Amino acid sequence: MTRCSTELLIFGGGIAGLWLLNRLRRAGYEALLVESDALGSGQTRYSQGIIHGGTKYALTGKLTASSEAIAAMPARWRDCLAGRGELDLSTVQLLSEHQYLWSTASLGSRLAGFFASHAMRSRTAPIPAAEYPAALRQPGFRGQVYRLDEPVLEVGSLLRALMAPVADRLLWAEEAAQFTPLPAGEGWEVELAAADRRLTITARRLVLVAGRGNAALLARLGQTQPAMQLRPLNMVLLRGAPAPLYAHCLGASTTPRLTVTSHPDPAGGLVWYLGGQLAEAVDRGEQAQLAAARAELAALFPWFDLAAAPLALAPIDRAEPRRTDGSRPDDAFLHAAAGVFTLWPTKLAFAPRLADRLIEQLEPPQPSRGEDPPVDWPRSQPAPLPWEEPRWR
Ligand SMILES: Cc1cc2nc3c(=O)[nH]c(=O)nc-3n(C[C@H](O)[C@H](O)[C@H](O)COP(=O)(O)OP(=O)(O)OC[C@H]3O[C@@H](n4cnc5c(N)ncnc54)[C@H](O)[C@@H]3O)c2cc1C
Repeated sequence: MTRCSTELLIFGGGIAGLWLLNRLRRAGYEALLVESDALGSGQTRYSQGIIHGGTKYALTGKLTASSEAIAAMPARWRDCLAGRGELDLSTVQLLSEHQYLWSTASLGSRLAGFFASHAMRSRTAPIPAAEYPAALRQPGFRGQVYRLDEPVLEVGSLLRALMAPVADRLLWAEEAAQFTPLPAGEGWEVELAAADRRLTITARRLVLVAGRGNAALLARLGQTQPAMQLRPLNMVLLRGAPAPLYAHCLGASTTPRLTVTSHPDPAGGLVWYLGGQLAEAVDRGEQAQLAAARAELAALFPWFDLAAAPLALAPIDRAEPRRTDGSRPDDAFLHAAAGVFTLWPTKLAFAPRLADRLIEQLEPPQPSRGEDPPVDWPRSQPAPLPWEEPRWR
C-alpha cells in the first residue's frame, strides 16, 4: 500500500476542479485532484464555451445581485487570456471575441426597448448591418443584432492550458474511493484504487467538484446535504455549417430560442453546436428532436439550404444544487460541513468566482506538509469534445 498526504484533496477534473487546483497551488496550498474518468468528461466538454456576462439573464429587465456578479466574469477571463490574470490562459484558443444576440423581426422593438434601458446601456449596443456576423448579414435578414461582451473559448485548449501547470497532481482512480474520518476532525483518510494498485491519501479537507458525481460522493461520506438537481439538455450538432456564428436568438421567453456556437470539425469544416430552448425540450424522442432542429434552422436561416446537413444529438445533464422549484441557480455554489466542501459552479464562466468562494473559507496555507503521490500512479488525460468523438463523425 502506497501513502501520501495533502492539505486539500479535490474530486472531479472538470472546469471547477482544474481551476481550483491551479488557484490553490498559486496561493501556496498543497492540493491534489482525483478524476475517475477523463478530464472534462462531465458537463465541461459539452459546454458551449461562452463566458457569459449575464446579458441573457437580465432579459427579464431585472438586474439581480448575481447578474451583477456574472457581469464581472468576462473581464477576469480576458485578463487570464491575455496572460496577466489570476491564471495564465494565454494558450487558450479564442473562438470569438464576442457572442451576439439577434432578434427576429417580430421581436425587434421589444429588444430595442430593453437595450435602451438604463440597466443595459453600459453592457452592449446594437451594431450596424455591415458588422453583422456573416451568417446574419444576408439579404433576407430583418431582425436586429447586438454585440455582447462575452468571449467564446475553445474548451479543448482550455482544458490543456489548465492541465499543464498541475499535470503531476491530476491522479486517475476508480470511482469507488473509500473514506475514513480521522479523529478530532483532523481530516480524512482516502483509499484510491487503480486496477490492482492502492493509494492511501491523508487529506485535511475534501473538495467535491464532481458535477453529478457529487451526490454519490456525499452518500459515501455519510452526508445528506447539499441536495443536487439534474437538468437534462438535448443539444444538437450540425456538420458542414455554412459560416461561423456565435449568437443567441431571442425568443418569446428569457431562455434564448436558439444558442449557436461554432467549432472546428476534425473531419474538416465547422460544426454548429445548438442549444437554448431547442435543447431544453427533452421530452421529445430522438427523431422528433432532429425534426425540431431542422424546422428551427429552416425558420431562422431561410437563406441557407441546411435540409440535408448531417445532424446528431448530444444529450447531457446539468448538475447543480437543488432549488425548490427546480429552476436554474444563478450563482456559483459552495457548502461546507465537517471538513468537506461541496461545490457546483453552475456555469463554466463562474469558475473564478467559485475559487474565490473556496479560498475565502480556508485557513492560510500551512508550510508544506504534503508528501507527493508516486510518480508512476496513473494520471488522468483530457476527454474529447463531442464533435471529436468517432461515434458522431
Ligand atoms: C450543454 C451545456 C452547455 C453549456 N454551456 C455553457 C457555456 O457556454 N458557458 C458556461 O459558462 N457554462 C456552460 N455550461 C455549464 C458548464 O458546462 C458547467 O457548469 C461546468 O462545466 C460544470 O463543471 P464542473 O467541473 O463542476 O463539472 P463537470 O464538468 O461535470 O466535471 C465533473 C468531473 O467529475 C468527475 N467525477 C465524477 N464522479 C467522480 C468521482 N467519484 N471521483 C472523481 N471524479 C469524479 C467526472 O468524471 C467529471 O470529469 C453548459 C453546460 C451544458 C451541459
